[in-house]
Amino acid sequence: MSWPGQAASPATTRILVVEDEHDIAGLIKHALEREPDTRVEMVNSGDAALKAVAEQVPDLVVLDLNLPVLSGFEVCRLLRARPATKHVPIIMLTARTSEVDRVSGLDLGADDYVTKPFSLRELAARVRAVLRRPREATTRPAAGATYRGTHLTADFDAVAVHVGGEPIKLTRREFELLRCLVENRGRVLSRDRLLERVWGYDRLIETRSVDVHIGRLRAKLGIAGEQIETVVGLGYKFVE
Ligand code: CA
Repeated sequence: MSWPGQAASPATTRILVVEDEHDIAGLIKHALEREPDTRVEMVNSGDAALKAVAEQVPDLVVLDLNLPVLSGFEVCRLLRARPATKHVPIIMLTARTSEVDRVSGLDLGADDYVTKPFSLRELAARVRAVLRRPREATTRPAAGATYRGTHLTADFDAVAVHVGGEPIKLTRREFELLRCLVENRGRVLSRDRLLERVWGYDRLIETRSVDVHIGRLRAKLGIAGEQIETVVGLGYKFVE
């Protein structure tokens, strides 16, 4: 197994696509290689993926959840357990849409999810967004991962949010919105920035969706929802 772009310049972005459905893998490769200086390697099993990353660590892994023998979850867990691949961004492809699967994937350290059927344009945009993120955002240190306010306690590693001691059930988007707001507390975040950070791609959904999700998040948080302030004309801010 060798990278097609092995002799290319160090600026080349190398993406490993792990997908057993050859047609889908081919379409993904074609779409992602439209970006400048991008080389895509395809493998069709978790075993082959682990072998490929052992030879050369890619800049990003697009990992299908449903693989024969070794599942995408298992591959993700193994990549995160190894020092050399601990920080490699991973975008998971999944046909499963339940929140449980999404949260399990985030727990294992996937950076983002794309649910099948997806548009290649959306996947390419997510790949760009994840590659743009600073590395520390993809490695989430354990320290400081819990926020404790007067009413709100949010443990972002354990994906547990409580208000006044009562557990609050959030969707993945709501959870990621809250995480983004809390991590940037005291600072105004524009709708565009929230879109990019939480949805991971630019302008493919309307900025109005951010308002809808903020509204739901506030309602679920009850009294702690008041900590999310609207800054007219600018965006939102989480206050202490
Ligand atoms: Ca598959």
